[in-house]
Amino acid sequence: MTHAINTVEHAYDVVVVGAGGAGLRATFGMAEQGLNTACVTKVFPTRSHTVAAQGGVSAALGNMGEDDWRWHMYDTVKGSDWLGDQDAIEYMCREAAPAIIELEHYGVPFSRTDDGKIYQRPFGGMTTHFGQGTAQRTCAAADRTGHAILHTLYQQALKHRAEFYIEHFAIDLIMDDGVCRGVVTLDMETGTVHIFRAHQVVLATGGYGRAYFSCTSAHTCTGDGNGMVLRAGLPLQDMEFVQFHPTGIYGAGCLISEGVRGEGGYLTNSKGERFMPRYAPNAQDLASRDVVSRSMTMEIREGRGVGAKGDHIYLHVEHLDEDVIHERLPGISDLARIFAGVDVTKEPIPVIPTVHYNMGGIPTNHYGEVVRRDGDNPDAVVPGLMAIGEAACVSVHGANRLGSNSLLDLVVFGRAAAHRAAEVIGGRGKPHQRLPEGSADPALERLERLLYADGSKSTAQIRDDMQHTMQQYAAVFRTGEVLDEGCKRMDKVLKSFEDVAVRDRSLIWNSDLIETLELENLLGCAVTTIHSARNRQESRGAHAREDFPERDDQNWLKHSLASLQQNGKVSLDERPVHLNTLTDEVESVPLQARVY
Ligand SMILES: Cc1cc2nc3c(=O)[nH]c(=O)nc-3n(C[C@H](O)[C@H](O)[C@H](O)COP(=O)(O)OP(=O)(O)OC[C@H]3O[C@@H](n4cnc5c(N)ncnc54)[C@H](O)[C@@H]3O)c2cc1C
Repeated sequence: MTHAINTVEHAYDVVVVGAGGAGLRATFGMAEQGLNTACVTKVFPTRSHTVAAQGGVSAALGNMGEDDWRWHMYDTVKGSDWLGDQDAIEYMCREAAPAIIELEHYGVPFSRTDDGKIYQRPFGGMTTHFGQGTAQRTCAAADRTGHAILHTLYQQALKHRAEFYIEHFAIDLIMDDGVCRGVVTLDMETGTVHIFRAHQVVLATGGYGRAYFSCTSAHTCTGDGNGMVLRAGLPLQDMEFVQFHPTGIYGAGCLISEGVRGEGGYLTNSKGERFMPRYAPNAQDLASRDVVSRSMTMEIREGRGVGAKGDHIYLHVEHLDEDVIHERLPGISDLARIFAGVDVTKEPIPVIPTVHYNMGGIPTNHYGEVVRRDGDNPDAVVPGLMAIGEAACVSVHGANRLGSNSLLDLVVFGRAAAHRAAEVIGGRGKPHQRLPEGSADPALERLERLLYADGSKSTAQIRDDMQHTMQQYAAVFRTGEVLDEGCKRMDKVLKSFEDVAVRDRSLIWNSDLIETLELENLLGCAVTTIHSARNRQESRGAHAREDFPERDDQNWLKHSLASLQQNGKVSLDERPVHLNTLTDEVESVPLQARVY
C-alpha cells in the first residue's frame, strides 16, 4: 500500500542544515544580522557531534607564553602538508583570537590560569617561532570543550530568535539550473515533508566517520550534506584525506584526546619502550596525528604491539599528578573506566589509531560559498549554496588537520558565512522567485523509492560491507594494489544498494528509512574517498602510499575533485591549491620537506 506524502512549504532568507558548532554559529550570526533564519537538524542541537570534542580550540592568545597568529598559520600550512589554501589559513589564524574572545563573552566557561586568563594547553604540531619552540595555544574547558561551546552557541541562537526545525531530516537540495533554491526535509515525528525555499542554503552537516568500521565520531556522522551535493551533480574535494586519531580506545573506538599527551601522557610498545622519539625526535609524542598514527602502526606491524594479540599500544598518564588528572582530564578518566575497564591513575589505556576526521568535503572559498570548476575558472561560486564545518573543505586542513583547529574552523567560518550571506542577500525578507514546477520532485521520488524499497539486502548488511571494505582497503597505509581491489569492492557495495530492502512502510519515526537515506549518503562518501585515494600517487599528510612514499609537489600539489555520475561511476578532476596569502601582512609559507 502506498500513501500520499503530505507537504508543507516555507520561505526563509537562509536555511542552515545542521546544528553542530558550525551550524549554530552561522545560524545565530545570520539571525543577528537580521536575516529570517531557519536551522534544520536531525538530532537535538546539543546532541550534535561537536558536543564530544574534548581537547580544545586553538588561538594564538599568548596567555601562557609568547604566541603569534603567524606562527599558528605556519604550523597549519605545514600540518596540511602544503595542501591547505594559504589565503583561507591566514584568515582562520588571524581571526582566531577575536573569535575565542567572542566565545568567552558569549559565556563559554573556559578553564582558567591562576591569574584568571583562558587556560591553554600544548597540542600536536603547534609551535612558536616557526617550528622552534612548543606553543601553548589550545584553549580548553577541562576536557569537555565542545560541550561548553555547543551549549553556549545554542543559547545564543535562541536569544537571537532563530527558528529551529528539530528532528527534521534533510533529504536533498532543490537545484534549478545550477542555482540552489532550497532544501527538502522530512519531519521525523509527523512524517510530513517540508519544502524550504531560501536565498542561501548552508550545509553544516558534519563528517562521515561512519563510512568506516572503527571511528571516534557519533552514529549520526553520515556525510548527509556531502551526499546531497553529489546528487546535485557537484564534486567533493580531497576525499582521500581521512585522519586517523592515534588514540581511540582499543575495541570501542571512543576518543582519548590529544590533550592527554599535551598534559604529559606518552605511548609505549610491548617492550615498555617510549618509541615516538625514534620516529619524531623533536615533537615526540606530540608529533602531528598522521605521524603518530603511522608510527604506532609500524610498531604493531613489527611485532611490538601490546595485549594478547599484540595489536594495540599503551597510553600512559599514571605518572601524572592525580589532581591534574581530576581537574584537567576528568572526561577521559570516565571513558577509560567505562570502555576499557582501566583506572588511569594506576594503569595505561589500550589505544589504537581510529578514524577521526574528514579533511575532505564540499569545496568552498573562505567566505563559506561552495565552489566548483567552470571551464577555466576553478573557483566558480555555486549561487545559493554554502558549506561550513567538517562537511566543508575550505581548505584550511589540507592533507592533515592539526588538533584543535576544527573547533576553530567551525566558529571562524560559521561567522564568515553569516557575514557573507547578509552581504549577498542584501536585507531581510527579499521576495523569492517561484520555484520551477516539479523542482522538489527528485527528492520526493527518492524518498518514495526508498520507503517502498523491496530488495533482498538489509541496510545493516550493506552498511557492514561498506564499513569493513573501507577499514581494510583505505586504511592508515595504502598501496595501489590494495586500493585497486578496494575500489572494485566498494563499487560492488554501491551497486548492491539497488537491492536494498526497507521493511517499515510508515513515515513516522521510521529509523529503517532514515538509516537507509544515511547509508546512501555514506556510500557516496566512501566511493569518492577510495577512488580519490587510488588516484593520488604520492604520500601527503594523512594519505600514506607505500608504493609512492614521497610527497610529489611536481605532480600532486593540487586538490582532487570527485563527482558521482548517475551510473554510479566516480569521475575525477582537480583544482589548484591557493599558495597565495590573503593580505600582504604575511608571506606564503614556502614549500619544505617535512621534518618531524
Ligand atoms: C570525539 C571527538 C573529539 C573531538 N575533539 C576535538 C577537539 O578537541 N578540538 C577540535 O578542534 N576538534 C575536535 N574534534 C573534531 C570536531 O569536534 C568536529 O570536526 C566538529 O565538531 C564538527 O562540527 P560540525 O558543526 O561540522 O558538525 P557536527 O557537530 O557533527 O554537527 C552536524 C549537524 O548536522 C546535522 N545533520 C546532519 N545530517 C543532517 C540531515 N540529513 N538533516 C538535518 N540535519 C543534519 C546534525 O543534526 C548536527 O546538528 C573532535 C571530534 C570527535 C569525533
